[in-house]
Amino acid sequence: MPESRTQRKTPLVLIVDDERLMRTMLRDTLEAAGFGVVEASNGREAMERARQIHPDLIVLDVIMPDMDGFEVCSQLRKINEIRHLPILMVTASEEREVAERAYAAGATDFIPKPINAAHLRHHVRYMLRASLNVEELRQKEQRLAHAQRLARLGNWEWERGEDRLRLSEEARRILAVADDAVSLTLAAYLEHIHPREREAIRRGLDQLWQNGPPLDLDFRLLRPDGTERFVHGQADRIVDAGGDAVRLVGTIQDISERKRIEEKLTLAGKVFHSSGDMILITDMQGWVVDVNDTFCRLTGFRREKIVGWPLGDLLSGQHDSEFYRHIWQTVTDKGFWQGEVWSRRQDGESFPALVSVNAARSDGEENGHYVFSATDLSRLRETERQLHYLSHFDPLTDLPNRLLFLDRLQQSLVGENSHQGQVAVLFIDLDDFKEINDTLGSQTGDRVLQEVARKIKECIRASDTVARPGSDEFAVILREVVPGGDAASVAQKLVDSLSTPFAFVGREFYVTLSIGIALSDIDGTDPEELIQKAETAMVCAKEQGKNRYIFFSEAMNQQVQERLAMKTSLRRSLERDQFLLHYQPKFNSVTREFTGLEALARWQHPDRGLIAPAHFITLAEETGLIVPLGEMTLRKACRQNRQWQERGYHPFPVAVNLSAQQFGEQDLVDTVCRALRDTGLSPQCLELEITESVILQDTERAIDILRKLKNMGIRIALDDFGTGFSSLDYLRRFPLDVLKIDHTFVRGVVSSEQDAAIVRAIIAMAHSMRLKVVAEGVETEEQRVFLREQGCDEVQGYLVALPVPPEEVERFFPLAGGRRDC
Ligand code: C2E
Ligand code: CA
Ligand code: CA
Repeated sequence: MPESRTQRKTPLVLIVDDERLMRTMLRDTLEAAGFGVVEASNGREAMERARQIHPDLIVLDVIMPDMDGFEVCSQLRKINEIRHLPILMVTASEEREVAERAYAAGATDFIPKPINAAHLRHHVRYMLRASLNVEELRQKEQRLAHAQRLARLGNWEWERGEDRLRLSEEARRILAVADDAVSLTLAAYLEHIHPREREAIRRGLDQLWQNGPPLDLDFRLLRPDGTERFVHGQADRIVDAGGDAVRLVGTIQDISERKRIEEKLTLAGKVFHSSGDMILITDMQGWVVDVNDTFCRLTGFRREKIVGWPLGDLLSGQHDSEFYRHIWQTVTDKGFWQGEVWSRRQDGESFPALVSVNAARSDGEENGHYVFSATDLSRLRETERQLHYLSHFDPLTDLPNRLLFLDRLQQSLVGENSHQGQVAVLFIDLDDFKEINDTLGSQTGDRVLQEVARKIKECIRASDTVARPGSDEFAVILREVVPGGDAASVAQKLVDSLSTPFAFVGREFYVTLSIGIALSDIDGTDPEELIQKAETAMVCAKEQGKNRYIFFSEAMNQQVQERLAMKTSLRRSLERDQFLLHYQPKFNSVTREFTGLEALARWQHPDRGLIAPAHFITLAEETGLIVPLGEMTLRKACRQNRQWQERGYHPFPVAVNLSAQQFGEQDLVDTVCRALRDTGLSPQCLELEITESVILQDTERAIDILRKLKNMGIRIALDDFGTGFSSLDYLRRFPLDVLKIDHTFVRGVVSSEQDAAIVRAIIAMAHSMRLKVVAEGVETEEQRVFLREQGCDEVQGYLVALPVPPEEVERFFPLAGGRRDC
């Protein structure tokens, strides 16, 4: 690059002339004036030198062979770097035409021949000075343009009169208008603004012209190529001495890049703050730079409190320094670490968190950041804890369940040794809890259970364990008990503690307990076995009348074993048809006429002989075998009765007992129909005996079934009346024909005034509802007399006839046309 004018000490002049003499003259004159001189003798050489040395001025002769001065001048003007070079043309005359050609070719000035030396010096000096100013201005402009380009800031000026908006180079670039479009009309400029903002800006400029406020706003430009730019624009007006606006001036700055970054940052910020994880950013030294909203929300720390503080302040102190050293080392080596860390909330509470640490360092960047993201694990831990609770505790009473009870018992048995005494297991069952649930509702049932749990806890030591292994069962572990004594006194305390009545739902009622006890030293050391034995003892307590406690004994075990064996043989006997029926007659209490039979099942056991229903009906119910057994009884009784009729006996009804379970079966009505059809017995000769438990189970369904049976012509009797609910309301709703007074009242009618009163009331009530009354279990003449006097319709009992096999009962039957009585 040749030296530039501003850098040279002496200005350099290029003299172009084909005449050597002329060149010498010019050189002498200019050198004498202190200028440096270079010469060229023709146009081509002039071009070459000018390009090489960038002279500060050219003195150019017009008349030259090959290329004349005009030609050289216009060629030089096309060379970019020297376009602005001042050119002084030496013309042959001062004619106007020549001068005009010189200016047209791009000459800065001209001087006619012959040349006056002083005149020349003067011209050159003047031209150089002017050119220097121009050059400085040009450089300033260039610098400004450069600065504008860097800042992406363009400016414009608008004159109203000529409606020209003059644009700076950068302004043109921002608008993407053609380079030569130095100016636009205001309307053309506004066309470049996004339609959404255009009107507002037009109005703003209008107001500005009329003394409105300067504009300062962001808007969008729509460029001819369809791209959009975000710009920041400012505009103000220039006023004359009188205060009137003469022009508007303004800038536009392309801020698209900044906007894009801003948007990206806003987005990043949103992600940062809306993340469900806690995010914390530190610098490389571990000073907190920023935290997100989640972090503040979950830890309780305010952002201002945390930012600028060392990370160490947030640690819980539950890990040693080695732990943290390991984390830093891993992050330094691998750039990443993840694991569980106990952290601290603002209130000091520590919590487990799954923490990831990332080293965020751009390539070659010295100062990066660490990004910590953490998930609070306390909720998860809480869920885990709840799961553990649910699998080990009963939520209703908050007591351990069977699983945890077993575990505790195991521990007690392992920890036990001789001088600490034995371990007692109490198995507690609420008596008749099902009835409470059925009649008072399960909500009351739940409250009863909670209350019982509370009372049990009051009766034992804190070191003992109470659990709820089943719905209406509780179990207790007593540790270090003295053989025999302690367990019994605790059990008694438990029985006594329930002697005060419960008072819920506006009524008072009692709940009693049956308790079975097993002891570790005599009944075994296996937890399952101990619980089993305590449960067996509890069942015995129930059988012995409930509301009591009983210690386990081997005899009970035998009983249990026996029952188990019985169940098995019951099933087998059913398959082998080893059941038969005995029949017990009933008689009119006044006329003593035979009125009918009740069929009673008997089990013909292969080893034990005939077994009474008291020993197998409960078992049959427990195993569900009562359903096939009941059906079998029904068919046998029907067939037997039909046979008697076929043999000529006068028709009479046979009563068959139904278990409540048979009502749960889908096809009871169907079963009865089939039995009648298959045996050919008419429905009028069948009576069905039901108990109140049938009514309690599913009242509507029971009513429906009974109505169907009754509509067929079958008679319905309510058995064991007086022992159960005995509600008048039920009696009204059920389609009954007969009421059988339970033998327990019959037995007392002579000795107990109360029993007598009850029987009297039952008879009166039954009659008021047009029911026939049968007294069962009549054993003495006095009882029969009493019953007859009270109007009881029929009697049944050992006094008048025992249940006997079919062939023996026939003697009571009236012969066709005749009668038989007792
Ligand atoms: P239950 O229906 O109350 O039958 C009357 C029971 O009282 C019969 O006992 C009968 O032998 C007995 N008994 C009759 N007269 C007297 C008396 O004067 N004094 C005393 N102490 N008892 C008397 P059993 O045959 O042992 O039947 C007992 C219970 O077994 C029956 O009571 C009945 O509830 C049930 N049962 C019997 N057979 C069947 C059956 O086929 N199906 C069903 N579901 N239950 C049956
Ligand atoms: Ca009966
Ligand atoms: Ca009965």
